[in-house]
Formats: sequence, structure tokens, C-alpha cells
Amino acid sequence: MSQETDKLYQQMLALIEQLNDYSYAYHVKDQPKVPDAEYDRCYLELQAIEQQHPEWLQINSPTQRVGEKPDNGFANVAHTVPMLSLDNAFDNPALEDFDQRIRKLLNTDKVQYCCEPKLDGAAISLRYEDGVLVRGVTRGDGLSGEDITSNIKTIHSVPLKLRTENPPAVVEVRGEIYMPKEGFEKLNKLALEKGEKMFVNPRNAAAGSLRQLDPKITAARPLVMCAYSIGYAEGWQQPASHYDGLVQLGEWGFRINDLMMQVEGAQACIDYYDKLNEQRGSLSYDIDGIVYKVDQIALQNQLGFIARAPRWAIARKFPAQEEMTQIEDVDFQVGRTGAITPVARLKPVFVGGVTVSNATLHNKDEIARLGIQVGDWVIVRRAGDVIPQIVQVLTERRPEQAKAVSFPDACPVCQSDLEQVEGEAVIRCTGGLVCGAQLKESLKHFVSRKALDIDGLGDKLIEQLVDQGLVKTPVDIFTLHENKDSLLNMERMGQKSVEKLLASIDKAKHTQYNRFVYALGIREVGEATARALTKHFDALDELLTASPEALIEVDDVGPVVAQHVSHFFAQTQNIDTIQGLLSAGVEWPKKQQLPESELPLLGKTYVVTGSLSRFSRDQVKDKLQQLGAKVSGSVSAKTDCLVAGEKAGSKLAKAQSLDIPIMDEEAVIAMLTELGAI
Ligand code: NAD
Repeated sequence: MSQETDKLYQQMLALIEQLNDYSYAYHVKDQPKVPDAEYDRCYLELQAIEQQHPEWLQINSPTQRVGEKPDNGFANVAHTVPMLSLDNAFDNPALEDFDQRIRKLLNTDKVQYCCEPKLDGAAISLRYEDGVLVRGVTRGDGLSGEDITSNIKTIHSVPLKLRTENPPAVVEVRGEIYMPKEGFEKLNKLALEKGEKMFVNPRNAAAGSLRQLDPKITAARPLVMCAYSIGYAEGWQQPASHYDGLVQLGEWGFRINDLMMQVEGAQACIDYYDKLNEQRGSLSYDIDGIVYKVDQIALQNQLGFIARAPRWAIARKFPAQEEMTQIEDVDFQVGRTGAITPVARLKPVFVGGVTVSNATLHNKDEIARLGIQVGDWVIVRRAGDVIPQIVQVLTERRPEQAKAVSFPDACPVCQSDLEQVEGEAVIRCTGGLVCGAQLKESLKHFVSRKALDIDGLGDKLIEQLVDQGLVKTPVDIFTLHENKDSLLNMERMGQKSVEKLLASIDKAKHTQYNRFVYALGIREVGEATARALTKHFDALDELLTASPEALIEVDDVGPVVAQHVSHFFAQTQNIDTIQGLLSAGVEWPKKQQLPESELPLLGKTYVVTGSLSRFSRDQVKDKLQQLGAKVSGSVSAKTDCLVAGEKAGSKLAKAQSLDIPIMDEEAVIAMLTELGAI
């Protein structure tokens, strides 16, 4: 053997060992060591070497067998007819080759196929004698599997008795047991809450659930069985086509897949694949490809089998939803409410139809739960439009230089202290708007479409405004017209865009009460909650001073949200911001105006002086006027009342000398509230 040939031979042996190891972890332990895509790559590589050197074929090669020897927990049962695997076609040409092969073997122009979604679960064989379920066996290594009858009986879609008066003496029905996506998510959520191990994907969850030694556990798992073929029968003439056989199973009480379809020729098979590939994300269960079967049973028998799979069927896999990649780093992002979110920076990987280079790690607990280190190999899953998730760390592949993820001690942006509320997984920065990151995120929220809706104030501009210190609170947005020159110096800001921006800032001053409350960015107060709050509390001031008990009275507001709201309004800096916004002219239509004759302060003259803290003088004047009062600039004998804030000077002295009633800020707010102006 030349050196090069020897190298190839060694490579083949290594692949066999590697694949057998993966297969054991996958089939027996229900704990895959690598994603299927990686297994399939190695498998194809091995197959290619074996095709090149058939004389090297080893009996323990995975290409020569189906699965794994069953685990020892259950009794071992031989299958009446072996439960084989399926050959794979990874692209259209491979599928066309398959069709061509079949046509050649059958010496015909067109072949009818039955197309079925390839359900992603675990294969099962069910034996019915005189119509009664007597045994359920896993596929195992294809020749024998595990007797899991008690577990199977807990699955409601498995008929315990066939719905027919004349059942065959014996029939073995094959099908897939799978876990619908919703059930899988619930199961994993529960596992997370209980701190138990989570399943990587619905298929593992289904396989793992089936092989529980305690049937009660299986019973509690949301499993479904779908029949996909008749393996063996006695005392019964099978329908001539596979499709009709499945329809018969449907009539006997089995669930059959409603997307299965009879088609003719390779092109129709490809069209079916394309259609299902598009539909895949919206199905309530996972499918990992399409299975094509020659439909006529007589032709199937004519075609027969190759080593590990029938010659008359092929599986065409969809692009992988799970891939492996490496964690290059873990960054910590600070959100609007200060939540510190670890984000894994990944070596870019193509998965679920897109290139993924980041994945959120949610929180500190998640890092610990997954046991992630920087440098680790991980399995990334992206199913449908769901955000990419790291589902597993491949600890065996951990490189020596991998290092633990250290959660920061202080905010990575503003260095403020971090805090973790008891019972919450999230760790937060205590910096509030002092924290640049929180400020930027708050501003982005504040100007967003459903909040104050300021057109032209995009993320990039906000970042520049904050970085250059021009905007420190949302109030500063309304003084930007004083900084026109600085605006003109910003990236991609010309005269026209600045004018446009200032105009939309001006326009945004006229808003709505619920939008304003939403824009404040109170934790867990989304659009709907903001609307509920403003509907309940007619006036902003009522909302500002509402106790948690009063807040709970609001529809859809529970104790947690109530706490967040009252905590938010208890912070002076938040009140300052609100006041600043109102002073800057932010306003909204008040509830119905009374007819003039009914205005409660009609005919009264007020003077407002000194500095007020909750509202600006102008706002108080506006509100007094709304209630019908005349507001004057100087105190005279005709003045009915003086509103005096802090540091009131000569006007206060004059009012005192004239014995004119004087109200402090608290008193005027109380009056305005009572009269419905706040
Ligand atoms: P397969 O999964 O490619 O196909 C056969 C199986 O398809 C059947 O047993 C059945 O369970 C299922 N199936 C679903 N719908 C069907 C339908 N309508 N008709 C017929 N069958 C249907 O082949 P396999 O031998 O079960 O397993 C090989 C695959 O398992 C590999 O492609 C690989 O992705 C995966 N695997 C992964 C690892 C790993 O470590 N990740 C290890 C071993 C195997």
C-alpha cells in the first residue's frame, strides 16, 4: 500500500469509529454528540471512500447497518421484517438519479411515487393480532428493537384496537412517534423551571420519552404517532398501492399525514419538495425532509433492497436546522431597562437558511446551564423564523485554551453597580439614564413608531447624539433646534435632513396620552398596558401618584407591573424628565372640554410665580386657563389667587399685603387634579 493509500485507509477506519460513536450516543443514549448535518457529512465521506475501495469494506461500518443495538432496559424483540433505513438524496440531481435508476430497473418511462413529509421523531413498529395491539417495538438496529408496549399504550393516537369488524390475523404497522413543536417547547420550559436537563430538539425529546422505564413519564409527554407503512401482514390482501394502504390504515383509526401525495416523475417530486420546504416552518411538527416511495407494492417487491435500505425509496433532506460552530467570544449587552444580556459571538455558520454569527445566551443562569466556555464547539439551532439558539455544548471537543465566561462585576458600559432582584434571572445595571447604553436604548424606544414616532431620528443618529453628549435625556431631543450646527456635523446629515428632523420633532410634541406613557419605557409596560393605564387614570398626575394597590385595579395590570410603574414614578429623575417633556411642549388632547359656561374657574384671575417642581409655570397657567381662569402677570386687588412656588419674591409679598389667597404647588396640583385638568 502506498503511503497515500494507507492514509486513506486509516481515515476510513477513523470515520467508522467516529460514526459508530456518534450513532451510539444518538440512538442508544438519546444524547447526540454532533448535529445530524455533521453526522451526514462524515457518513458521505466514508461512503465515498468505500465506493472507491469496495475491497476495504468493514463489517462494523455504519453504511452496513441501520441503527444501534438496543439499550438493556427493555426486552429485545426481533422484527418480523427488518426495519430498514432510507437512502438520502441531498440535492435535485441526486433525486433525478434515483428516479432514473428506478426507471431503468423497471424498464419504464414514468414512475408513480408517494411523497410524504419525513417526520422527525422515532420509528416504531406496532403488531396487531386480530385487530388488537399486542406489541410496540422500537427500530433498534433494524433487526431487533426494544419492547416498549406499555409506553406505546399511553399514546392516544395509537389505536389499541383497529376500527374494523374484519381485521387481518396479523398486521404490523410502522410509523413515526413525534412530539409537536408546541408540546416540545412546553416540556423544555418546564424542565428549565425545574432545573432539569432540556432536550436538544423535538426528535430527541420524542425518542427519550419513548424509552422511559416508567410508562407514567411517557404518558405525561405530548407524543403523537403517525403511520407511514405496513411492514407485514397475515390473512389480508394489502392494497396494490402504498398510498391506498395508508388510506386503509387511516380508516382503521391511525393518524396518517394529510400532506402525503401521489405524483408522477422526478419533476413533480422536486415541486413537492419545494412546496413543503416553504411550508416547513408553519407546520405544527418538525419534518427534516421528504420521503419518496415507489407507490405500487408489486414494483417495490420487484426492486427489493440494498444493504441497509429499500431500493424503492429515498429521503431528500431539507437544509439543516442544526449546525455546529465555535464560540469566539461572549459580549455583554445592556438593554433599555439595564438588563445585561450575554451574547455569544459565533464563527459564522449557515443554519436554517441564514448565516448566523450571534446567539443570545439570555442570562447568567443560561451560561451555567449550558456550561459554555469561550472557544467551545456548540450546536446552534434555527428552526423557521425562530431566533438562533445554542442548544448544546459539545464538551468532548472543548479546546485546551477554552476559557470560562466571566460575568462582569460592573456595567460594561457605565461601570455602575449591577443588581439582581431575588427570584429573577436577569442582572441589571443600576445606572439608569446615566448609563450610555440604557440611554441609547431608551431614546430608541422613546422615538419609535408606537411611541412619540419621531421620523428621521434613527438608531445611528441617536448613538452619535449620545456619544457627543448632545442628548442626555429624552427632553434634550426637544432642544436640538438650538444645536443645529452640531446636527449638521453629524454623519449623513445635510441641511435638508436637519430641517426635516426638527420638523418631525416639533410635530411629535402633539402626541397622545397613551403613546406618551408607552414612550417612557417603564418596565413591562407595553403598548396595551400603556393604553389600559391611561384609560383608567384620566389624568397623568393621577397615574404619577397612583399606589401599587390602585394600579392593580387596572385591567391586565398584575402586582409585578404595578410595582414597576409605581417604582418608576417614585424616581425623581423620571418625574423631572416627564416635567421637562411637558415644559418642552409635549402635549395631548385632554378628555372632553366642558362648555365655557360650566368651566369651574370662570371669572377668576390667577397669578403664578416662583419655581415649581412638578410642572412648569406655563403648564400650570395652561391648565388654569383650560378651567376658565384668567391668568395675569401681576398681582392686584382683582387677583383671586396667587400660585406661589419656591423662591417667590415680590408678587408673594404683595399678595400677602393685599390678603389675597395663596396656594403652594401641592395645593394647586390637588385643585387641578380635582377639577380634572391633570
Ligand atoms: P433516516 O432518519 O435518514 O431515515 C429513516 C427513518 O425515517 C425511519 O426509520 C423513520 O423513523 C423516518 N421516517 C419519517 N417519516 C417517514 C416516512 N414517511 N416514511 C418512512 N420513514 C420515515 O435514517 P436513519 O437510519 O434513521 O438515521 C440516519 C440519520 O440519523 C442520519 O441521516 C443522521 O442525520 C441521523 N443520525 C445522527 C447522529 C448524530 O450524532 N447526530 C447519529 C446517527 C444518526
